[in-house]
Amino acid sequence: SGAGTSSATSDNVKVVIRIRPARPEEEAAGSACVQQRSGQVLEADGPGHERRRRDELHYDAVLGADAAQDDVFQLVGLPVVEHCMSGLNASIFAYGQTGSGKTHTMTGMLSNADQRGLAPRIFDALFARIAQEETRLGREKLRYSVRCTYLEIYREELTDLLRPAGPPLALRLDAARGAFVDGLEERDIFNSDDAMALIRCGSEHRRSAATAMNADSSRSHAVLACQVESMRREDSGLASVRSSRLYLVDLAGSERVRASGAGGAQLRETCAINSSLTTLGRVIAELVEAQRRGAAARHHVPYRDSRLTFLLQDCLGGNARTVIVAAVSPAAEHAGETRSTLEFAARAK
Ligand code: ADP
Ligand code: MG
Repeated sequence: SGAGTSSATSDNVKVVIRIRPARPEEEAAGSACVQQRSGQVLEADGPGHERRRRDELHYDAVLGADAAQDDVFQLVGLPVVEHCMSGLNASIFAYGQTGSGKTHTMTGMLSNADQRGLAPRIFDALFARIAQEETRLGREKLRYSVRCTYLEIYREELTDLLRPAGPPLALRLDAARGAFVDGLEERDIFNSDDAMALIRCGSEHRRSAATAMNADSSRSHAVLACQVESMRREDSGLASVRSSRLYLVDLAGSERVRASGAGGAQLRETCAINSSLTTLGRVIAELVEAQRRGAAARHHVPYRDSRLTFLLQDCLGGNARTVIVAAVSPAAEHAGETRSTLEFAARAK
């Protein structure tokens, strides 16, 4: 933590905007509130009463309505796979209002090869790279193992998406393991078919858990974690183990509570969601700021203020790579939420 020990650069936090296509009725209803201008620039309606103003905003990348699922993977997924293969941690977050394309981006349609999202593509690439490395050195010299968990955070409570009827889960901090969830099911994943089955199982449970709680999945954060471990045996007989972790997070909808309507339980729930999203925003802004100053200011980062950031602290900051995919709707009626997502994303840079 002394001066000059921070090797992190602001390159470790990337912010990508993905604009979803307008639906026919949205197209008919008026002009788009956000438009891609180039690979890194978009134009958006001004905030609130300044809506008629158009601002040009810059990000690490901007993907328009014509971006294919594979474009998102090439831009966001592939570098993260390489990062994990080199033994470092990473996380990808999908942020945005409900209906903006977060789940489409992270999971997509599993039954349609073209429409599969980041998670299935990342596992395909990961297992291809593992096979390549193991073949290059021989499995007696190098062997990988992959283990996954899948959980949901709803109102700051944790549910196992692989075993939803199991006992309640507690978040703990351990000197050796770091932050971990006690009692969470861990599955060994040997190939992309196993990964696909896991994603499918988690997605189905996310839907049914939401129905049982009389909520919908847009109110919870879904966290898919993947631990990649490699065991290398040298000719001398010495063995070394290296491990890295990847978090894929489909965040709860970022929409604000409307002044009317929400009260009681629903209001408390929205506060819990907004507080973890706000904390995530503050954590990322702190990290970006610390990187800018070149200081290792890890202790000032408010990881402990939400379950989500507490759990993910090893994958945020330091050498970890963090990508935020901010999903936005171009519909005129969503101008306010789109602007607020674009501002959240801008603060993360
Ligand atoms: P969220 O998870 O943010 O609530 P979804 O991912 O469920 O939103 O997207 C809402 C709807 O819009 C879904 O029917 C989804 O298939 C569609 N959609 C979102 N993004 C895209 C896109 N880039 N291309 C095509 N359809 C999209
Ligand atoms: Mg969703």
